[in-house]
Amino acid sequence: MQIADDRVVFIHYTLKNAGGKVIDSSRDQDPLGYIQGHGNIISGLEKALAGKSEGDRLTVTLEPADAYGKRDESLVKAMSREQNFSQVSDLEPGMQFQTRTEEGIRVVTVSSVEGDEVIVDANHPLAGETLTFDVEIAGVREPTQEELSHGHVHGPGGHH
Ligand code: ZN
Repeated sequence: MQIADDRVVFIHYTLKNAGGKVIDSSRDQDPLGYIQGHGNIISGLEKALAGKSEGDRLTVTLEPADAYGKRDESLVKAMSREQNFSQVSDLEPGMQFQTRTEEGIRVVTVSSVEGDEVIVDANHPLAGETLTFDVEIAGVREPTQEELSHGHVHGPGGHH
C-alpha cells in the first residue's frame, strides 16, 4: 500500500543535523505513527514520503524553511530573573519553560543567565538547522474512523 493522504504510516527514522550528529532516532522504540496529510510531521518530510510504500528507505535533507523554520532573532529576549524566574533556584542555560505570549503558549529556552538578566530564546530548538532524515517505512494502512476524526494514530507508536 502506498502512502497517500489520510493513510496511517509507521516510520523508523534517524534525524541528523548538518554536522552529521544524531539528534533523534526511533530505532530503540516503536516506529513513529502518523496520518499523512494532517500536518502530524514536518511538511518537507511528509511531502517526500508521499507515494512511498512499506519497506522503502529514503534519505531526505530539508532546508530550515521545510523543517522547523529559520531562526527569528526577534524571539530572543532579555527578561528579569527576579520578576520572571524567582521560584527557580537553579536556573541555567538549556532549561526550557512554557510562557504565555501574544501568539499563545510557547516553549522558551534559556540561553544565558547573568545577574538579574536572563536571555530566553523562543525559537524552536531546531530552527535554522538543515536536517537529514534517514527513513524506513515500517507500515502503511487505512485509518480507522476514530483515528481520522481525532487526526492522530492510535495504538503502539501513536496516542492513547
Ligand atoms: Zn485519539
